[in-house]
Amino acid sequence: MTVGVWVLGDQLWTGQSALQSCAGEPANTPVILIESLSHGQAMPYHLQKLVLVWSAMRHFAEELRQANWQVSYYPAAETFQAPLTEWVTQQGITELRVMAPSDRPFAQLIQALDLPCQVRLLPNNCFLWSREDFRAWAVSHKRLLMEDFYRESRRRFQVLMDGNQPLGGRWNFDQENRKPPKGGLKTPQALWFEPDAITQDIIDWIKRSDRFQRHRQYWQIEPFRWAVTRQQALQVLDFFIHTRLPGFGPYQDAMVTGEMTLWHSMISPYLNLSLLHPLEVVQAAGQAYLENQNDWNLSSVEGFIRQVMGWREYMHGVYHLTDEDYPQRNWFDHTHSLPEFFWTGETDMNCLYQILTQVKQTGYAHHIQRLMVLSNFALIAGLSPQAIESWFHAAFIDAYDWVMQTNVIGMGLFADGGVLASKPYAASANYINRMSDYCHQCRYSARDRTGDNACPFNFFYWDFLDRHREKLSSQGRMGFILKNLDKISPAERQAMGQQAAEWHSRALGVEG
Ligand code: FAD
Ligand code: SF4
Repeated sequence: MTVGVWVLGDQLWTGQSALQSCAGEPANTPVILIESLSHGQAMPYHLQKLVLVWSAMRHFAEELRQANWQVSYYPAAETFQAPLTEWVTQQGITELRVMAPSDRPFAQLIQALDLPCQVRLLPNNCFLWSREDFRAWAVSHKRLLMEDFYRESRRRFQVLMDGNQPLGGRWNFDQENRKPPKGGLKTPQALWFEPDAITQDIIDWIKRSDRFQRHRQYWQIEPFRWAVTRQQALQVLDFFIHTRLPGFGPYQDAMVTGEMTLWHSMISPYLNLSLLHPLEVVQAAGQAYLENQNDWNLSSVEGFIRQVMGWREYMHGVYHLTDEDYPQRNWFDHTHSLPEFFWTGETDMNCLYQILTQVKQTGYAHHIQRLMVLSNFALIAGLSPQAIESWFHAAFIDAYDWVMQTNVIGMGLFADGGVLASKPYAASANYINRMSDYCHQCRYSARDRTGDNACPFNFFYWDFLDRHREKLSSQGRMGFILKNLDKISPAERQAMGQQAAEWHSRALGVEG
């Protein structure tokens, strides 16, 4: 039997299960990596995402060669099928091993390949929880609660634990982590890199190629400053831990004009390519806390660890637990198409303008920008969940199907009817005004609900609650909010509904 290994673009770790299964014989194991152009053109992906993935793949191929693996690399291939068939035949491969893809559509793509050898999928070991372990946890619980899962995760991997109890006596310090950005915040630096020759080659090629015209219309390719190797990703992690982790918590939800990174870690692109493993991330953060207990707040470190071993693992687990129709869910029956400004950034709503411009330039926005501005707007304005999911998928540097469906369809838009979140993350301008400085420089008034200056987040918000009152009243946590809706006069509610409809006709060219 001759075994070959196909390393997918988001599986760039020498410890991944398919490579590990042949680790004893690298010199006798053919390994293939393929850049597929048709895959890169399946949607208008952010140009920096294409550069990141292809550059990281090329660097990883070099790393494997240096470790003596027999690597074949196919740059800019049209599809996966042709290079795989050629390589399998040339190398006389009888069994092709692939670590199970994180994304369902890619698993289907593999199933549909026609290859002259057996294909064997090995369990994906790039997450803390295997799919089977998550499923076993889920079936043993009546309700899927992230907080329960997170506690189990802390116990299981013994992170921030004192025996069987949480360090500091509490599991969750979230209440201490929601400060608005008042006064002049002194924000820390983030670590960035200049492109090396491999990265620059890809940038130049994409700039010249006529394959990416749509992508070029929307996204900036330069300056490209992301890490592209495991070694650089480890530097990013280390730099974050020693400069921004101690202050991660308090301003985790804050949004400030011109401040992209604040105290965020910027590690999602590297975790999602497997350049970093979540276990090493949480262990490094936990260890750094133990070494600096007298100076660091536990709330910051706990807040960060909850994101990685709580939210990230939970989203991945739920994705593989849900049915294949999950991406098509549309609980509110929202059908408005995506306004063009999501692509161009050209809108007079300052919060959206600032964040969309930042996404255009980098492919990145932090969690609250994604949740409480971008997807909040899509939710309350009634945009089609599938249209907005496709946009997020195209726009973000760290976007993959497993993390998109759960975050956009589930968390952001509540289109799954509450599988993932206990109530919709819907908010008026009040929230954005409290947690950002965007409203000071906006042409709209964050206070007005109707009239020329009314912030669209206001009339859309109240109209959303009004339109979906019946559905929302079945969500226990919405009772208090619906009572506030009742305090608004029927005439004002009607005026807001009218203004929302007019906005749609004007901005989207669609009947409201
Ligand atoms: P930090 O704020 O420093 O957090 C640390 C890490 O925690 C992140 O790197 C990430 O790996 C993990 N994390 C935190 N929350 C989540 C979550 N809800 N789901 C998964 N991981 C989480 N994350 C992606 O990786 N890819 C996406 O395409 C993506 N799209 C999103 C779309 C929407 C509408 C929403 C609400 C969230 C989305 N997220 C996505 C989750 C989260 O916003 C990003 O992981 C985070 O902003 C990445 O920036 P960071 O590395 O600086 O994160
Ligand atoms: Fe955004 Fe409204 Fe604030 Fe303007 S007033 S920045 S549109 S929330």
